[in-house]
Amino acid sequence: MSFKHPPGPPMDLANMRRRGVRNLIAYCLNDSCLHQALIDVSSYPADTPVPWFAGKVVCAKCGARNNRIDVRPNWNEASPVQDWRGNEAMPGDE
Ligand SMILES: [Zn+2]
Repeated sequence: MSFKHPPGPPMDLANMRRRGVRNLIAYCLNDSCLHQALIDVSSYPADTPVPWFAGKVVCAKCGARNNRIDVRPNWNEASPVQDWRGNEAMPGDE
């Protein structure tokens, strides 16, 4: 009666904030637009899943919305402490 665990929980704001990221970056999937924009999500609850925003944002340029927008954490502002694959700092990674 037990379900298998999913591959991983969806990324949420708590997860990305832990890595120092406060903004999402939205990519318009419209080939003739490809607009990108940062979204300040600091006012949203920590347990808001990142994919949820894909259904909320609207492209300011072409008006695309819902699944026409790809939303992901703006890793550019993450603290560059270590590569999460672990170059030498993570024992047992290989
Ligand atoms: Zn667009």
